[in-house]
Order: sequence, then C-alpha cells, then structure tokens
Amino acid sequence: MGNKKTSTTKTIETKLFPPVVAVLGHVDHGKTTLLDAIRKTSHADREKGGITQKIGASMVDFTHDGVKRNITFIDTPGHEAFTKMRGRGAQASDIGLLIVSSADGVQPQTRESISALRESQTPFIVVLTKADLPTKNPDKIKQQLTKEDVKLEGYGGDVPVIEVSAKTGQNIQELLDLILLMYDLHKPADYDKKVSVTAPLQAIVIESKLDTRAGPKATVIVKNGSIHIREELQADGQIFRIRTLLDDKGKSVQSVTVGSAVEVLGFEKVPTVGSIISHKSQSMPVPTPKSQVTVPLMREMVYKKDEKSLGLSIILIADTQGSLEAIVNSLPKGIRTVAKKTGDVSEADILLAKSTESIILSFNTKIKPDIQKLALTEKVLLRNYEVIYELLKEIEDAQEGKMLSQMEQIFGTAKILAKFPFEKTFAFGVSVNRGRIAKGDHVRVMRSEKVLGETLITSLRVGKNPVSKVEKGNEAGTILSPILDIQVGDMILSHS
Ligand code: GDP
Repeated sequence: MGNKKTSTTKTIETKLFPPVVAVLGHVDHGKTTLLDAIRKTSHADREKGGITQKIGASMVDFTHDGVKRNITFIDTPGHEAFTKMRGRGAQASDIGLLIVSSADGVQPQTRESISALRESQTPFIVVLTKADLPTKNPDKIKQQLTKEDVKLEGYGGDVPVIEVSAKTGQNIQELLDLILLMYDLHKPADYDKKVSVTAPLQAIVIESKLDTRAGPKATVIVKNGSIHIREELQADGQIFRIRTLLDDKGKSVQSVTVGSAVEVLGFEKVPTVGSIISHKSQSMPVPTPKSQVTVPLMREMVYKKDEKSLGLSIILIADTQGSLEAIVNSLPKGIRTVAKKTGDVSEADILLAKSTESIILSFNTKIKPDIQKLALTEKVLLRNYEVIYELLKEIEDAQEGKMLSQMEQIFGTAKILAKFPFEKTFAFGVSVNRGRIAKGDHVRVMRSEKVLGETLITSLRVGKNPVSKVEKGNEAGTILSPILDIQVGDMILSHS
C-alpha cells in the first residue's frame, strides 16, 4: 500500500490502513455489547436503554498474522444513517457486520440492514451473537437468512458467518481476523496505487453537531489522503480552517490518514452527515442533489397550509443532526412533519405546535421547566425520548391509534415469511405479530408503507390443521384470494 513509514515506526504495521467497519442489525441483538467486548471497555452499561444513540467511531488494534493491525468501527445508530450516507453518494465503511442474535433470529431491522448492505454493495460478515445462550439456534437462523437471500458460506454462498459471544469472549479475536481477511480480499486491484497518505483528501462526515462551547464540529472518516491541523478544507459549500483534531480517545493530534476516524473542529457551520471533505485547492465536490439537501440548523419549515390534516402532525427536535436524520429517515409514511431542528425545545416550538395541532417529540434534549409548564397550559403534547427506537414506536402507536379511531378497526397484522405453490394458487407462511388474523378477514397487503391491495383470507392452517383464528406470536399457513403480487416480507393487515 502507498502509506509511508513514519519516523517513529519502523515495522510493516504502518503500511496497512485500517478497514472501516459499520455494525448493523436489529435493536437489542448485541451491537453495543459486541463493540464493547471488542474495545474491552464497557460503554454499553452506560447507554440508556442499551441502544446505540450517537454516531461515533473507535479504533482498535490487535495482532493479526503476527502483524499489528488496526480496525476502525463506526458506531452508527443503525441502518438508517447508513442508508442516508449512501443516499449522498458517500460510502464511509469498507465492511459491514450484520449482527443477528442467535436466539432471536431475523427481525424487521435485520431485513432493513440486509437491504442497506446490499444496496451499497458493502461486503459483509454475518455475526451470530449471544452464542452463550442455551436458547440459541444458529442453524434455524442460517436458514432464515438463506430465505432472505443472504448466501452464506456452507450454504452455497460466500458470505462468512461466525458465532460469537460478547459475554464469554468466544470468537471475538477470530471475528477481528475475519474482518481483516475480508478487507484484504475485497480491495480493488488499483487500491495501492490510488489510496495513500499523499493522495487528494477525501473524508466523510459521519456525525455533526453544534457544540455550545466549541462551535460546529463533526466526526469524519478519512477515506483517502490525510488531514493536517490548520490546513484549509472545504465541505458542504463552506471553506474552513481546521482548528483542532481529536482522535477517538479525545486526544489532540496533528494529522490523521486513511481509515482513521477523527473529530474535526473549525467549521463555519455544521456540515451535513454524509458530506465529503476535501482540500481547498481540490475542485469542489459534486453538489448534493436537490432532493437530499442539508437539514439546516435553523428550524426547517416544511408545513404547507393546504395539506390535508388527516395524518399525525409532529415537530421533531433532536440533540444532533445525525440523530435527527436517523429519525427523519425512519418516519413512517403519512406523518406530517411541521418542523424539525436540532437544539432545545423553545417557547416558539410550543406555539407552533398549538397553532398547527401537532405533537412535539424531542430526542435527547433538555426541556426547561417553564417550557414544560407552557406546554401544559397550551395543551401541547411534549415528549422527550432517550432511545430512537422508542420515539419511532410512539409515533407508530399514535398513528395507528389515530387511524383506528378515524377509520376502521385493525384486528391484527402478520408478516409474510414464505410463499409456495399450492394447488392452482399460492399458499403463504405468515407470522402474526399483532392482534389476530382470522379466516374470512378482509386484509390489506402492505409493502413497506405502500398498499398493494385488498384481499381475503380464504383458508388458515396451523401445521396441517384448519383453524379459524391465529393469535399474535404464532405462525400459520394461509391462502389469500385474490393473491395479488404478494411477496415474502410483505405485511397483511386484517381490518373491519
Ligand atoms: P444493541 O441494541 O444491538 O446495541 O444490543 P445491546 O448490545 O445493548 O445488547 C442487548 C442485550 O443483549 C443486553 O441486555 C446485553 O447484555 C445482551 N447481550 C449482548 N451480547 C450478549 C452475549 O454475547 N451474550 C448474552 N448472554 N447476552 C448478550
């Protein structure tokens, strides 16, 4: 590789850049704990609700094949931010870890993570976590993954799969070795020619915020070239001079190069997550397409007076732009976002919520007692969350409640797990995840947020036995008529 030896290091080790690794998967499947086991620190216990809430990054070093190597881990809040970065044409990570609990198996966010990895063509490793649990069932989970078209090693494909336990440390070192093996294997042929400490700078913003004392700051990953303190850079349409560089341990450094994560201070304004940083002398990067323009720091007014007021109206306020974007990207359809911003909840927000009949959902922000009081007197619902997942769940519940009261009764929902030919039609394997479904029910077929059509449950079986009703938590076989274009992963919603 093109990296040069430095005066302080003489061994082969500095010639090898660290791979940048993103960790994706369903909530509670063990991402934070695994990263902790890797880092041998214990942030997880301090993470409220056990969910990864901020984009950060950390570097670990260890011995691989007798050589000291580094790996940089991006601690994303999940697939949402990953997808968002990808949407901006930025690819921060070299390798993905698809985390799947070997006890719980494939879950909705596992599927979303698979899509994000696939879409971005990021090579990935399937990591089956919690291997110490007696309830683990790795074979079943490998089959589930095969159904999701993840072509695993040992199942006719080449996606590596490894069972680990963050609790006992089982296979943690092996996982790190596997990451490096995969990285060395997937490097493009011209990598060594193109990637070096002296190449034109390309760095990607993975987290950004306005610090009340330090000003705008961002965590960035260097993909090519180097960043030096005090040099002039450009990002997101602004030119700025680097004031301070802090490594992942918070230590001030003079420069960083390929594969490193670093906190950068000195921006004029908060750069958008996914934006690309280059040297001032380099030609300006391709501008971000209009549809993906930045979320301004100031409140962004997206409310249009003529919009129908059927759906739920919300005002979103988050601590950092990364969190805000992760939330915005995960909002279900039909939600009207009246305003979104980073910072604290203000009096103006309460008044805006009152005049637009919205609720205010804030994430990790401080709510002052007088603001809380104003919300009470103005009868504005104001809630703060410390876990993104819970905020989104609340929206889902509120939306469902609103739909229910306004339109119809929802009896239950089920996910399509399998589709197979049966007599002259198709039968579907389903898993009921809410309420119940029953023979004769009218059901709406949903793909993500899109309605595919309406159909009817004409047959329902558990195993070989015909049944009239299947409750939440159970699996069943069903025949629907008409069958529409139902595919594995679609949802059916049984309604009045
Ligand atoms: P995240 O939401 O994916 O970051 O998941 P966490 O890392 O917060 O883990 C969720 C829960 O699973 C926590 O209660 C952890 O203690 C537990 N957990 C994580 N890894 C392991 C493991 O290897 N073994 C066992 N037994 N529990 C684990």
